[in-house]
Amino acid sequence: MSAAWGKCFDPTGAVHGIPTYPWKLAPDGLATLRQLRAMGLRPGGQPVQAQVMRLRRRAGTPRVAYLYRVDLAKPVRPMTSRKWGALALAMLARRTCPICRVTYSYCLPTSLGCCVLCAYPDTTPTANCTASRRG
Ligand SMILES: [Zn+2]
Repeated sequence: MSAAWGKCFDPTGAVHGIPTYPWKLAPDGLATLRQLRAMGLRPGGQPVQAQVMRLRRRAGTPRVAYLYRVDLAKPVRPMTSRKWGALALAMLARRTCPICRVTYSYCLPTSLGCCVLCAYPDTTPTANCTASRRG
């Protein structure tokens, strides 16, 4: 057992406060937030149960990932009709030009803050095309 590995192996939490395991060696039944999410679960208010730790060769601070118990995790909340409504309104606002109030079928570029026709009122796409063809 190397010294670095030993620093990360603390299943009772005597050194780090919570049970600590070396990277990739966490016991079964524990999962990270991302792993829970992939299973369609969320921690559901439970505190962090343990952590996996990896010492980085150059940087002094170790890298940790918090673990939660899978059996205490709860399913991800489904979308409610109010949430769908709020999402639809937000998407509508992103598709509506604040200047001409036209609602487009696509989201307006945030760099312009309005539709293309309002951003460049003097140039129309067709005029540009014919001009470039003529020139
Ligand atoms: Zn506009």
